Amino acid sequence: MIVMKFGGTSVEDAKAIDRVASIVEGRLAKQPVVVVSAMAKVTDTLLTMARAAGEGERKTALKLCRSLQERHYNTASELLGTALFTEFHSELGAEFEALDELLRGIAAVGEITPRTTDHVASFGEVLSSRIVAAAFAARGLKGAHVDSREVLITDSAYMSAIPHYEETNARLQEKVTPLLDSGQVPVMGGFIGANRAGITTTIGRGGSDFSAAIFGAGLAAEKIEIWTDVDGILTTDPRICPDARRIKVISFDEAAELAYFGAKVLHPATVLPAIQKNIPVYVLNSCNPSCEGTRITTRAPQGKNIFKAIAAKKRITIVDVAAPRMLLAHGFLRAIFEAFDRHKVAVDVVSTSEVSVSVTVDSNQAIPALAADLAKLADVKYEGRKAIVCLVGENLRQKPGIAGLVFRELADKKIRMISQGASEINLTFVIEEDEVPEVIQRLHKTFFAELDPEVFA
Ligand code: ADP
Ligand code: ASP
Ligand code: MG
Repeated sequence: MIVMKFGGTSVEDAKAIDRVASIVEGRLAKQPVVVVSAMAKVTDTLLTMARAAGEGERKTALKLCRSLQERHYNTASELLGTALFTEFHSELGAEFEALDELLRGIAAVGEITPRTTDHVASFGEVLSSRIVAAAFAARGLKGAHVDSREVLITDSAYMSAIPHYEETNARLQEKVTPLLDSGQVPVMGGFIGANRAGITTTIGRGGSDFSAAIFGAGLAAEKIEIWTDVDGILTTDPRICPDARRIKVISFDEAAELAYFGAKVLHPATVLPAIQKNIPVYVLNSCNPSCEGTRITTRAPQGKNIFKAIAAKKRITIVDVAAPRMLLAHGFLRAIFEAFDRHKVAVDVVSTSEVSVSVTVDSNQAIPALAADLAKLADVKYEGRKAIVCLVGENLRQKPGIAGLVFRELADKKIRMISQGASEINLTFVIEEDEVPEVIQRLHKTFFAELDPEVFA
């Protein structure tokens, strides 16, 4: 069997879902399990309405809910035609009634918790998976909706819940395998799950890729296909550099670094369950299904280019902790990192000198409190609006002098931190956020002007 995951833009309207149906139809012999995201932008809208309700703005929340309802009804009726839509109407209606009631409850209490946030956010995938399953059935594909909350069992860390793999795998065997055995096409929402008590959880933004990998690993899939709106993993973000080119094949390690450092095309954790089982992952374009896309495998040919791709991650804050005499004292660094841990602030890039340690973190609300806590230990400064730029490629391991080539191109730029990770497959540095486009375009021109056809398309 295979897993086919379709992202938000691939299910954004009736036309897109129609394309999905024909792509899936072409793969029926492979026994696909289909995983879908919420329709494009729906999760953002749901989170906006949850916040509005939490602030007591009931009318705003309900208005947003109604516009979402209209969009889903319109999509479903366009896909199903009048007769089938009438049948299906009550199924969707029940979901919107539940969402409406939930929002009223949140507005009445005037408080939104991570648990209720997940409950609201889950409607995006609940709705899209129901509509896609119904659309399949209407097209003669044996689509069978499976509620992912009965399959993906997680802990209770709302908004970024961690899967309990053994229980999830058992549920997959129980609820999905029989459908495959009887020739049906299971359709499941990504991103959503439930804890052991059956309360809805989500596994983090962009998490549908992760769901696809979890299901693929649990069902021992032959491959996992991540269908999106670009031809595959490209040499850089095409929105920054329109001449970005497709990477034909990339290693798991390279893809993981890229995802971690901002290449939004793939969720960072996606690769993990798949790596462990040696399942190849393909990134494909639902608007251009005949394109071969990008294959992600354990080992990939390296080709002649130094780098495979460039990624950038914005909204970064640098935290500088300076303690002239203390820094190398026993236990001091531990005390610093314990403070990051206490505030649940994850660290990306670290560099130290004798007198200070600089750390990058995703800009977020916890930073002022963290800084106040750190100020008890040392002098602390923090500065937002930074970005991490990361060049990735396994060739970095062998070739000397690469950092020189990169920074020569950026001689007029203020580089704040530089790091070459222990994995030796990335060269990472920190710049001002507003310089990202120029820096990426310049590096792309330098390192991707000529491409090895073995690796790049
Ligand atoms: P989906 O909704 O299918 O999950 P995403 O929006 O999460 O899609 O990811 C696809 C987007 O990622 C592309 O439209 C592209 O703009 C962006 N992107 C960023 N970096 C890259 C890259 N290196 N290669 C391909 N796409 C990239
Ligand atoms: N719908 C979720 C999000 O927007 C999950 C996903 O699309 O992967 O974050
Ligand atoms: Mg995505």
